[in-house]
Amino acid sequence: MANDCIFCKIVNGELPAERLYDDDRIIAILDIYPANKGHVLVIPKKHYETFDKVPEEELYATISIVKRFVQSVITALHAEGVNVHVNSGPAAGPLVKHTHIHIIPRFKDDGLSGLSLTYDAKKYETGELKDYATKIKRAMK
Ligand code: ZN
Repeated sequence: MANDCIFCKIVNGELPAERLYDDDRIIAILDIYPANKGHVLVIPKKHYETFDKVPEEELYATISIVKRFVQSVITALHAEGVNVHVNSGPAAGPLVKHTHIHIIPRFKDDGLSGLSLTYDAKKYETGELKDYATKIKRAMK
């Protein structure tokens, strides 16, 4: 664990997050600065600074959870697609240097581009974060 890492703090329960999934190796949360509402982050619990550092088996487990969230985000939010992406290494601009995979729900005319690497975060209204979490969890198989 890195002392100043916000994802390590979320994993350890030192910081709050809207948790969608939690097992012994992986958590998934809602991004509080979403590109679109329902933006999910799937995060290996151990601190790996870059994607290439994640051991194969842990990576496969993580990707398998990503797949399930891709399905549930599409079902729950009636999304017309998703972007799944990883920012790894300093030039790629990850805001938190603890490997995580983004799942961004996409809608026609949502103003984002397919390769949008920067965006103005949407804002959840009061209670909305929980509503999105509930919908996505309910749709998860
Ligand atoms: Zn960390």
